[in-house]
Amino acid sequence: LTELLSVNAARRSIIAHFSPVAVSTVPLTQALNRIIASDIASSTDLPPFDNSSMDGYAVYSADTLLASQASPVSLPVVLDIPAGRPDILPIQPGQAARIMTGAPLPLGANAVVPVENTDQYRSHSASPLPASVKIFSPAKPGDYLRPRGMDLKAGQTVLPQGHKLRPVDLGLLASLGLANLAVYQHPKVALLSTGDELLEPDQPLAPGKIHDSNAYMLAGLIEQIGCEVIRLGISRDDPEDLTTRLNRALDLKADLIISSAGVSVGTYDFVKGVIEQHGQIDFWRVNMRPGKPLAFGNYRGVPIIGLPGNPASAFVGFMVFAAPVLRRLAGYAKVEHTSLRAILDQGIESDGRETYIRGFIERRGDRFFARLAGHQGSGNLYALTLSNALLIVPSEVKSLSPGDELDAWTLTSE
Ligand code: AMP
Ligand code: MG
Repeated sequence: LTELLSVNAARRSIIAHFSPVAVSTVPLTQALNRIIASDIASSTDLPPFDNSSMDGYAVYSADTLLASQASPVSLPVVLDIPAGRPDILPIQPGQAARIMTGAPLPLGANAVVPVENTDQYRSHSASPLPASVKIFSPAKPGDYLRPRGMDLKAGQTVLPQGHKLRPVDLGLLASLGLANLAVYQHPKVALLSTGDELLEPDQPLAPGKIHDSNAYMLAGLIEQIGCEVIRLGISRDDPEDLTTRLNRALDLKADLIISSAGVSVGTYDFVKGVIEQHGQIDFWRVNMRPGKPLAFGNYRGVPIIGLPGNPASAFVGFMVFAAPVLRRLAGYAKVEHTSLRAILDQGIESDGRETYIRGFIERRGDRFFARLAGHQGSGNLYALTLSNALLIVPSEVKSLSPGDELDAWTLTSE
Protein backbone atom coordinates (compact mmCIF):
# COMPACT_ATOMS: atom_id res chain seq x y z
CA LEU A 1 0.00 0.00 0.00
CA THR A 2 1.50 3.30 -0.99
CA GLU A 3 -1.51 5.61 -0.85
CA LEU A 4 -1.29 8.09 2.02
CA LEU A 5 -4.63 8.12 3.84
CA SER A 6 -6.03 10.99 5.83
CA VAL A 7 -6.76 10.13 9.46
CA ASN A 8 -10.46 10.64 8.88
CA ALA A 9 -10.63 8.46 5.81
CA ALA A 10 -8.71 5.69 7.58
CA ARG A 11 -10.92 5.91 10.64
CA ARG A 12 -14.14 5.91 8.63
CA SER A 13 -13.09 2.96 6.55
CA ILE A 14 -12.18 0.95 9.66
CA ILE A 15 -15.40 1.80 11.51
CA ALA A 16 -17.42 0.72 8.47
CA HIS A 17 -16.36 -2.89 9.13
CA PHE A 18 -18.22 -2.99 12.43
CA SER A 19 -21.75 -3.01 13.76
CA PRO A 20 -23.10 -3.28 17.31
CA VAL A 21 -22.92 -6.58 19.18
CA ALA A 22 -25.99 -8.52 20.34
CA VAL A 23 -28.57 -7.22 22.79
CA SER A 24 -29.61 -8.68 26.13
CA THR A 25 -32.08 -7.75 28.83
CA VAL A 26 -30.77 -6.65 32.21
CA PRO A 27 -32.46 -5.57 35.42
CA LEU A 28 -32.23 -1.92 36.35
CA THR A 29 -29.80 -2.81 39.15
CA GLN A 30 -27.24 -3.82 36.53
CA ALA A 31 -27.89 -1.09 34.00
CA LEU A 32 -25.48 1.66 35.08
CA ASN A 33 -23.13 2.63 32.22
CA ARG A 34 -24.85 0.22 29.83
CA ILE A 35 -25.81 1.37 26.33
CA ILE A 36 -29.54 1.15 25.64
CA ALA A 37 -30.47 -0.85 22.58
CA SER A 38 -33.70 0.91 21.63
CA ASP A 39 -35.43 4.23 22.16
CA ILE A 40 -37.27 4.31 25.47
CA ALA A 41 -40.66 6.01 25.52
CA SER A 42 -42.53 6.89 28.66
CA SER A 43 -45.43 4.58 29.44
CA THR A 44 -47.05 7.18 31.68
CA ASP A 45 -47.39 10.86 32.42
CA LEU A 46 -45.02 12.07 35.12
CA PRO A 47 -46.10 12.97 37.66
CA PRO A 48 -48.90 10.44 37.08
CA PHE A 49 -51.53 12.54 38.92
CA ASP A 50 -52.01 16.16 40.06
CA ASN A 51 -50.37 16.43 43.46
CA SER A 52 -49.26 18.87 46.09
CA SER A 53 -45.68 20.12 46.26
CA MET A 54 -46.08 21.22 49.91
CA ASP A 55 -47.69 20.14 53.14
CA GLY A 56 -50.71 22.44 53.43
CA TYR A 57 -54.35 22.89 52.55
CA ALA A 58 -55.95 22.31 49.15
CA VAL A 59 -58.47 25.05 48.33
CA TYR A 60 -60.43 26.82 45.63
CA SER A 61 -58.06 29.73 45.05
CA ALA A 62 -60.97 32.18 44.64
CA ASP A 63 -61.94 31.54 48.27
CA THR A 64 -58.61 32.94 49.48
CA LEU A 65 -58.57 36.12 47.38
CA LEU A 66 -59.11 38.45 50.35
CA ALA A 67 -57.00 36.56 52.88
CA SER A 68 -54.42 38.54 54.84
CA GLN A 69 -52.58 38.31 58.14
CA ALA A 70 -54.98 40.90 59.67
CA SER A 71 -58.11 39.29 58.32
CA PRO A 72 -57.59 35.59 57.55
CA VAL A 73 -60.10 33.52 55.61
CA SER A 74 -61.45 30.60 57.64
CA LEU A 75 -62.45 27.43 55.76
CA PRO A 76 -63.87 24.16 57.13
CA VAL A 77 -61.45 21.22 56.70
CA VAL A 78 -63.46 18.34 55.21
CA LEU A 79 -60.78 15.87 54.11
CA ASP A 80 -57.38 14.57 55.18
CA ILE A 81 -55.19 13.48 52.24
CA PRO A 82 -51.92 11.76 53.16
CA ALA A 83 -49.38 10.76 50.47
CA GLY A 84 -50.29 7.41 48.95
CA ARG A 85 -54.04 7.86 49.36
CA PRO A 86 -55.55 5.89 46.45
CA ASP A 87 -58.92 7.63 45.93
CA ILE A 88 -59.54 11.20 44.82
CA LEU A 89 -62.52 12.78 46.59
CA PRO A 90 -63.95 16.18 45.74
CA ILE A 91 -64.14 19.30 47.86
CA GLN A 92 -66.71 22.03 47.29
CA PRO A 93 -66.13 25.79 47.03
CA GLY A 94 -65.72 27.16 50.55
CA GLN A 95 -64.04 23.97 51.80
CA ALA A 96 -60.42 22.96 52.38
CA ALA A 97 -58.59 19.62 52.58
CA ARG A 98 -55.45 18.98 54.57
CA ILE A 99 -52.91 17.60 52.11
CA MET A 100 -49.35 16.29 52.33
CA THR A 101 -46.50 16.67 49.86
CA GLY A 102 -46.96 14.22 46.98
CA ALA A 103 -50.60 13.48 47.87
CA PRO A 104 -53.26 13.57 45.11
CA LEU A 105 -55.09 16.87 44.79
CA PRO A 106 -58.82 16.64 45.61
CA LEU A 107 -61.20 17.23 42.71
CA GLY A 108 -62.23 20.85 42.43
CA ALA A 109 -59.25 22.31 44.30
CA ASN A 110 -56.91 24.37 42.14
CA ALA A 111 -54.25 25.49 44.62
CA VAL A 112 -52.49 24.51 47.81
CA VAL A 113 -51.82 26.92 50.66
CA PRO A 114 -48.60 25.87 52.44
CA VAL A 115 -49.15 25.13 56.11
CA GLU A 116 -46.76 27.99 56.92
CA ASN A 117 -49.37 30.44 55.59
CA THR A 118 -52.10 29.12 57.91
CA ASP A 119 -52.85 29.03 61.63
CA GLN A 120 -51.87 25.32 61.55
CA TYR A 121 -48.15 25.98 60.88
CA ARG A 122 -47.10 24.29 64.12
CA SER A 123 -49.14 21.17 63.44
CA HIS A 124 -47.83 18.09 61.61
CA SER A 125 -49.33 15.22 59.71
CA ALA A 126 -49.99 13.23 62.89
CA SER A 127 -51.95 16.07 64.52
CA PRO A 128 -55.71 15.55 64.61
CA LEU A 129 -57.51 17.06 61.65
CA PRO A 130 -58.59 20.60 62.62
CA ALA A 131 -62.25 21.49 62.10
CA SER A 132 -61.22 24.61 60.23
CA VAL A 133 -58.16 26.40 58.97
CA LYS A 134 -57.36 30.12 58.88
CA ILE A 135 -55.57 31.21 55.73
CA PHE A 136 -53.28 34.24 55.94
CA SER A 137 -52.44 34.92 52.31
CA PRO A 138 -54.20 34.48 48.97
CA ALA A 139 -53.35 31.50 46.74
CA LYS A 140 -53.19 31.89 42.97
CA PRO A 141 -54.58 29.12 40.73
CA GLY A 142 -51.87 26.46 40.39
CA ASP A 143 -49.94 27.46 43.52
CA TYR A 144 -47.90 24.58 44.99
CA LEU A 145 -49.35 22.08 42.54
CA ARG A 146 -47.49 19.60 40.39
CA PRO A 147 -49.91 18.90 37.54
CA ARG A 148 -50.03 15.47 35.94
CA GLY A 149 -47.59 15.30 33.00
CA MET A 150 -45.69 18.42 34.12
CA ASP A 151 -42.34 16.59 33.86
CA LEU A 152 -43.13 14.42 30.85
CA LYS A 153 -46.01 13.01 28.83
CA ALA A 154 -46.88 9.38 28.10
CA GLY A 155 -45.44 8.32 24.74
CA GLN A 156 -42.63 10.84 24.83
CA THR A 157 -39.15 9.45 24.00
CA VAL A 158 -37.08 9.95 27.11
CA LEU A 159 -33.83 8.18 26.20
CA PRO A 160 -32.56 7.43 22.70
CA GLN A 161 -30.97 4.20 21.49
CA GLY A 162 -27.21 4.36 21.94
CA HIS A 163 -27.36 6.41 25.15
CA LYS A 164 -25.08 5.44 28.02
CA LEU A 165 -27.10 5.14 31.21
CA ARG A 166 -26.16 7.54 34.00
CA PRO A 167 -27.42 7.40 37.60
CA VAL A 168 -30.14 9.99 36.87
CA ASP A 169 -31.33 7.90 33.92
CA LEU A 170 -31.73 4.88 36.20
CA GLY A 171 -33.86 7.01 38.51
CA LEU A 172 -36.01 8.10 35.57
CA LEU A 173 -36.45 4.53 34.31
CA ALA A 174 -37.45 3.43 37.79
CA SER A 175 -40.00 6.24 37.99
CA LEU A 176 -41.47 4.90 34.73
CA GLY A 177 -41.74 1.45 36.28
CA LEU A 178 -39.17 -0.10 33.95
CA ALA A 179 -37.59 -2.95 35.89
CA ASN A 180 -35.76 -4.56 32.96
CA LEU A 181 -34.41 -3.14 29.75
CA ALA A 182 -32.59 -4.08 26.57
CA VAL A 183 -28.93 -3.09 26.44
CA TYR A 184 -26.02 -4.03 24.21
CA GLN A 185 -23.80 -6.80 25.49
CA HIS A 186 -20.23 -5.97 26.46
CA PRO A 187 -18.07 -6.43 23.36
CA LYS A 188 -15.17 -8.82 23.96
CA VAL A 189 -11.80 -7.38 23.09
CA ALA A 190 -8.73 -9.62 23.08
CA LEU A 191 -5.58 -7.72 23.97
CA LEU A 192 -2.11 -8.86 22.97
CA SER A 193 1.36 -7.49 23.65
CA THR A 194 4.26 -8.64 21.52
CA GLY A 195 7.97 -8.50 22.14
CA ASP A 196 10.85 -10.53 23.57
CA GLU A 197 11.80 -7.55 25.74
CA LEU A 198 8.53 -7.48 27.68
CA LEU A 199 8.04 -8.58 31.28
CA GLU A 200 4.96 -8.73 33.46
CA PRO A 201 4.91 -6.06 36.20
CA ASP A 202 5.59 -8.64 38.91
CA GLN A 203 8.79 -9.80 37.20
CA PRO A 204 12.02 -7.99 38.18
CA LEU A 205 13.63 -5.87 35.49
CA ALA A 206 16.55 -7.55 33.76
CA PRO A 207 19.10 -6.23 31.24
CA GLY A 208 17.45 -5.22 27.99
CA LYS A 209 13.96 -5.82 29.35
CA ILE A 210 11.06 -3.49 30.11
CA HIS A 211 7.70 -4.05 31.69
CA ASP A 212 4.66 -4.44 29.48
CA SER A 213 2.84 -1.19 30.14
CA ASN A 214 0.64 -1.14 27.04
CA ALA A 215 -1.47 -4.08 28.17
CA TYR A 216 -2.47 -2.28 31.35
CA MET A 217 -3.06 1.10 29.75
CA LEU A 218 -5.04 -0.35 26.84
CA ALA A 219 -7.08 -2.68 29.06
CA GLY A 220 -8.11 0.35 31.10
CA LEU A 221 -9.14 2.25 28.00
CA ILE A 222 -11.09 -0.73 26.70
CA GLU A 223 -12.91 -1.23 30.00
CA GLN A 224 -13.68 2.47 30.28
CA ILE A 225 -15.68 2.19 27.07
CA GLY A 226 -17.61 -0.74 28.51
CA CYS A 227 -15.92 -3.68 26.80
CA GLU A 228 -14.70 -6.90 28.36
CA VAL A 229 -10.97 -7.51 28.06
CA ILE A 230 -9.60 -10.92 27.17
CA ARG A 231 -5.96 -10.79 28.22
CA LEU A 232 -3.84 -12.71 25.75
CA GLY A 233 -0.67 -11.72 27.60
CA ILE A 234 2.74 -11.23 26.01
CA SER A 235 3.63 -13.05 22.84
CA ARG A 236 7.31 -13.70 22.33
CA ASP A 237 8.66 -12.72 18.92
CA ASP A 238 7.93 -16.22 17.78
CA PRO A 239 5.30 -17.38 15.26
CA GLU A 240 4.16 -20.35 17.32
CA ASP A 241 3.58 -18.34 20.50
CA LEU A 242 1.76 -15.69 18.50
CA THR A 243 -0.46 -18.29 16.79
CA THR A 244 -1.37 -19.94 20.10
CA ARG A 245 -2.40 -16.65 21.64
CA LEU A 246 -4.36 -15.46 18.63
CA ASN A 247 -6.24 -18.77 18.57
CA ARG A 248 -7.29 -18.15 22.14
CA ALA A 249 -9.07 -14.99 20.98
CA LEU A 250 -11.13 -17.18 18.66
CA ASP A 251 -11.88 -19.78 21.30
CA LEU A 252 -13.14 -17.07 23.64
CA LYS A 253 -15.26 -15.51 20.87
CA ALA A 254 -13.56 -12.13 20.78
CA ASP A 255 -15.27 -9.45 18.72
CA LEU A 256 -11.95 -7.75 18.07
CA ILE A 257 -8.24 -8.30 18.67
CA ILE A 258 -6.05 -5.34 19.58
CA SER A 259 -2.32 -5.92 19.51
CA SER A 260 0.54 -3.59 20.22
CA ALA A 261 4.06 -3.57 18.75
CA GLY A 262 5.55 -6.01 16.32
CA VAL A 263 4.24 -4.17 13.30
CA SER A 264 7.17 -1.83 12.73
CA VAL A 265 9.58 -2.38 9.88
CA GLY A 266 11.99 -4.41 12.01
CA THR A 267 9.62 -7.21 12.85
CA TYR A 268 6.50 -6.76 10.89
CA ASP A 269 7.11 -9.48 8.35
CA PHE A 270 6.81 -12.05 11.10
CA VAL A 271 3.47 -10.83 12.49
CA LYS A 272 2.28 -10.20 8.96
CA GLY A 273 3.25 -13.74 8.01
CA VAL A 274 1.39 -15.36 10.89
CA ILE A 275 -1.77 -13.38 10.29
CA GLU A 276 -1.72 -13.79 6.54
CA GLN A 277 -1.46 -17.55 6.91
CA HIS A 278 -4.96 -17.56 8.44
CA GLY A 279 -6.45 -14.25 7.41
CA GLN A 280 -5.41 -10.96 5.98
CA ILE A 281 -3.67 -7.81 7.15
CA ASP A 282 -2.84 -4.42 5.66
CA PHE A 283 -0.32 -1.90 6.87
CA TRP A 284 -1.85 1.46 6.20
CA ARG A 285 0.09 4.62 5.67
CA VAL A 286 -1.89 7.20 7.60
CA ASN A 287 -0.92 10.86 7.39
CA MET A 288 -0.49 11.30 11.14
CA ARG A 289 2.00 11.62 13.95
CA PRO A 290 2.66 9.69 16.07
CA GLY A 291 1.78 6.73 13.90
CA LYS A 292 3.85 4.02 12.45
CA PRO A 293 1.90 2.09 9.89
CA LEU A 294 -1.45 1.15 11.33
CA ALA A 295 -2.26 -2.53 10.87
CA PHE A 296 -5.81 -3.63 10.18
CA GLY A 297 -7.14 -6.98 9.05
CA ASN A 298 -8.54 -10.20 10.44
CA TYR A 299 -7.22 -13.38 11.95
CA ARG A 300 -9.44 -16.33 11.03
CA GLY A 301 -12.31 -13.88 10.65
CA VAL A 302 -11.77 -11.95 13.87
CA PRO A 303 -10.93 -8.32 13.09
CA ILE A 304 -7.53 -7.18 14.34
CA ILE A 305 -6.14 -3.70 14.90
CA GLY A 306 -2.36 -3.55 15.30
CA LEU A 307 -1.18 -0.53 17.26
CA PRO A 308 2.39 0.77 17.52
CA GLY A 309 4.54 -0.45 20.42
CA ASN A 310 5.67 2.84 21.88
CA PRO A 311 3.25 3.61 24.70
CA ALA A 312 2.36 7.16 23.69
CA SER A 313 1.89 6.06 20.08
CA ALA A 314 -0.21 3.10 21.17
CA PHE A 315 -2.32 5.48 23.22
CA VAL A 316 -2.88 7.88 20.34
CA GLY A 317 -3.53 5.02 17.92
CA PHE A 318 -6.07 3.61 20.32
CA MET A 319 -7.85 6.94 20.78
CA VAL A 320 -7.94 7.71 17.06
CA PHE A 321 -8.79 4.28 15.60
CA ALA A 322 -9.68 1.69 18.22
CA ALA A 323 -11.89 3.75 20.55
CA PRO A 324 -14.46 4.64 17.86
CA VAL A 325 -14.56 1.00 16.76
CA LEU A 326 -15.20 -0.13 20.33
CA ARG A 327 -17.92 2.47 20.76
CA ARG A 328 -19.51 1.24 17.55
CA LEU A 329 -19.38 -2.38 18.73
CA ALA A 330 -20.75 -1.34 22.11
CA GLY A 331 -23.71 0.40 20.48
CA TYR A 332 -22.91 4.04 21.32
CA ALA A 333 -24.92 6.46 19.20
CA LYS A 334 -21.90 8.72 19.09
CA VAL A 335 -18.62 7.01 18.25
CA GLU A 336 -16.44 10.05 17.69
CA HIS A 337 -14.49 11.68 20.46
CA THR A 338 -15.93 14.91 21.82
CA SER A 339 -13.62 17.73 20.95
CA LEU A 340 -13.46 21.29 22.14
CA ARG A 341 -11.67 24.34 20.81
CA ALA A 342 -8.69 25.58 22.79
CA ILE A 343 -6.46 28.62 22.42
CA LEU A 344 -2.73 28.01 22.43
CA ASP A 345 -0.65 29.60 25.18
CA GLN A 346 2.50 28.67 23.27
CA GLY A 347 3.57 28.11 19.69
CA ILE A 348 3.76 24.61 18.14
CA GLU A 349 5.90 23.39 15.26
CA SER A 350 4.65 20.44 13.24
CA ASP A 351 5.67 18.61 10.07
CA GLY A 352 2.48 18.84 8.03
CA ARG A 353 1.04 15.52 9.22
CA GLU A 354 -2.07 15.51 11.43
CA THR A 355 -0.36 15.60 14.81
CA TYR A 356 -1.64 14.47 18.19
CA ILE A 357 0.19 16.30 20.94
CA ARG A 358 0.04 15.51 24.62
CA GLY A 359 -1.23 18.71 26.11
CA PHE A 360 -2.70 20.36 29.11
CA ILE A 361 -5.84 22.45 28.85
CA GLU A 362 -7.38 24.70 31.43
CA ARG A 363 -10.47 26.83 31.51
CA ARG A 364 -10.01 30.54 32.00
CA GLY A 365 -13.29 32.45 31.92
CA ASP A 366 -15.43 30.85 29.24
CA ARG A 367 -12.56 29.63 27.06
CA PHE A 368 -10.03 26.80 27.12
CA PHE A 369 -6.30 27.42 26.85
CA ALA A 370 -3.75 24.79 25.91
CA ARG A 371 -0.06 24.12 26.34
CA LEU A 372 2.22 21.15 25.76
CA ALA A 373 2.54 18.65 28.60
CA GLY A 374 5.98 17.20 29.15
CA HIS A 375 8.33 15.64 26.65
CA GLN A 376 6.66 14.48 23.44
CA GLY A 377 8.87 11.43 22.81
CA SER A 378 6.63 8.52 21.92
CA GLY A 379 8.14 6.21 24.52
CA ASN A 380 7.42 8.58 27.39
CA LEU A 381 4.47 7.33 29.33
CA TYR A 382 5.02 9.55 32.36
CA ALA A 383 4.65 12.68 30.21
CA LEU A 384 1.35 11.26 29.02
CA THR A 385 0.13 10.91 32.59
CA LEU A 386 0.80 14.64 33.07
CA SER A 387 -1.46 15.57 30.18
CA ASN A 388 -5.22 15.99 30.23
CA ALA A 389 -5.83 16.43 26.51
CA LEU A 390 -4.65 15.55 23.05
CA LEU A 391 -4.11 18.68 21.00
CA ILE A 392 -4.67 18.17 17.29
CA VAL A 393 -2.59 20.06 14.77
CA PRO A 394 -4.35 19.63 11.41
CA SER A 395 -2.56 18.21 8.41
CA GLU A 396 -0.72 20.70 6.22
CA VAL A 397 -0.16 23.05 9.17
CA LYS A 398 3.52 23.43 10.01
CA SER A 399 3.36 25.98 12.75
CA LEU A 400 0.86 27.49 15.13
CA SER A 401 1.39 30.64 17.18
CA PRO A 402 0.29 31.61 20.67
CA GLY A 403 -3.36 32.69 20.40
CA ASP A 404 -4.15 30.28 17.54
CA GLU A 405 -7.03 27.87 18.11
CA LEU A 406 -7.02 24.11 17.68
CA ASP A 407 -9.18 21.06 18.43
CA ALA A 408 -8.50 19.25 21.69
CA TRP A 409 -9.74 15.92 23.00
CA THR A 410 -10.14 15.78 26.73
CA LEU A 411 -8.67 12.71 28.41
CA THR A 412 -10.65 12.61 31.63
CA SER A 413 -13.10 9.79 30.97
CA GLU A 414 -15.77 8.80 28.48
P1 AMP B 1 8.07 -2.46 18.14
O1 AMP B 1 6.84 -1.92 17.46
O2 AMP B 1 7.96 -3.89 18.47
O3 AMP B 1 9.29 -2.12 17.37
O4 AMP B 1 8.16 -1.65 19.50
C1 AMP B 1 8.40 -0.25 19.53
C2 AMP B 1 8.80 0.19 20.92
O5 AMP B 1 7.74 0.00 21.81
C3 AMP B 1 9.97 -0.59 21.49
O6 AMP B 1 10.77 0.32 22.20
C4 AMP B 1 9.31 -1.56 22.41
O7 AMP B 1 10.15 -1.99 23.45
C5 AMP B 1 8.17 -0.75 22.94
N1 AMP B 1 7.08 -1.60 23.36
C6 AMP B 1 6.53 -2.57 22.63
N2 AMP B 1 5.52 -3.17 23.31
C7 AMP B 1 5.44 -2.55 24.49
C8 AMP B 1 4.59 -2.74 25.61
N3 AMP B 1 3.64 -3.66 25.63
N4 AMP B 1 4.77 -1.92 26.69
C9 AMP B 1 5.75 -0.99 26.67
N5 AMP B 1 6.55 -0.76 25.62
C10 AMP B 1 6.42 -1.54 24.54
MG1 MG C 1 8.83 -5.53 19.25
